[in-house]
Amino acid sequence: MVRIVCVANQKGGVGKTTTAINLAVGMAASGARTLLIDLDPQCNATSGLGQQPTPRHPLVKRDPIHESVVKTYAEGLELLPGSRSFQDVDALAKTPAAQAATLRTHLMSELEGYDQVLIDCPPSLGTLTQTALAASTEVLMPIQCEYFAMEGLTQMINVIRSVMQQHPGRLEFGGILLTMFDERFELTHEVDNEVRDFFGEIVFDTVIPRDVAVAEAPSHGIAAIDYDPRARGSRAYLELCMEVLGRD
Ligand code: ADP
Ligand code: MG
Repeated sequence: MVRIVCVANQKGGVGKTTTAINLAVGMAASGARTLLIDLDPQCNATSGLGQQPTPRHPLVKRDPIHESVVKTYAEGLELLPGSRSFQDVDALAKTPAAQAATLRTHLMSELEGYDQVLIDCPPSLGTLTQTALAASTEVLMPIQCEYFAMEGLTQMINVIRSVMQQHPGRLEFGGILLTMFDERFELTHEVDNEVRDFFGEIVFDTVIPRDVAVAEAPSHGIAAIDYDPRARGSRAYLELCMEVLGRD
């Protein structure tokens, strides 16, 4: 079964896209044939890899997926670009769960040729995130080390649980990742302790430090691990790749 990792958290700005891009590039570099799917109407994963959004998205238009997949600068990494027309998916069925069930089948129909698939989710718990969860074998949740870090997680976990019930034996908790870690702040350590006390082993050992190279990389259309491989943030993402690959 192809490994499909969905990067999700209904909060924006927690590092989903940054994590999806760096993991995808890192996994492709390890020799895995990798596909990154950008499911966010903001299309940040697409522009972060120097690509253009697609005006006609195969999920919305029911076209074959491979027709929209593009090669990226990174050897072995392909991208299904995002689209601003994603809003239209809400018209496909009455409830997000029903829409997700329809879209999931279409999305999964052409993923078998890849070793690894990563899905970058929008900051919501609507149709697109539910589709991604229903298609995935694991979910990775980035959490920003800030005061409201845990807020909203219960809601997210309830959605994950309901997807797990709808498709038994498929989706697993892949892990929780602490992002924008700044060890100078007491608050960072408080969040770290609280999250590890609450979630235990599923929290990755690797934490991603706040690092200007990580923030700059997308404007150059490449992943931080290629933009400045020696930056602290890049080294942390490389470590995360090893940890994720080790959890397979
Ligand atoms: P999301 O996809 O959850 O909305 P992003 O990955 O787009 O979050 O990150 C939000 C912003 O924070 C972006 O501008 C990104 O470049 C920046 N960012 C993400 N991770 C880091 C980091 N480790 N250090 C510094 N800036 C970061
Ligand atoms: Mg994003």
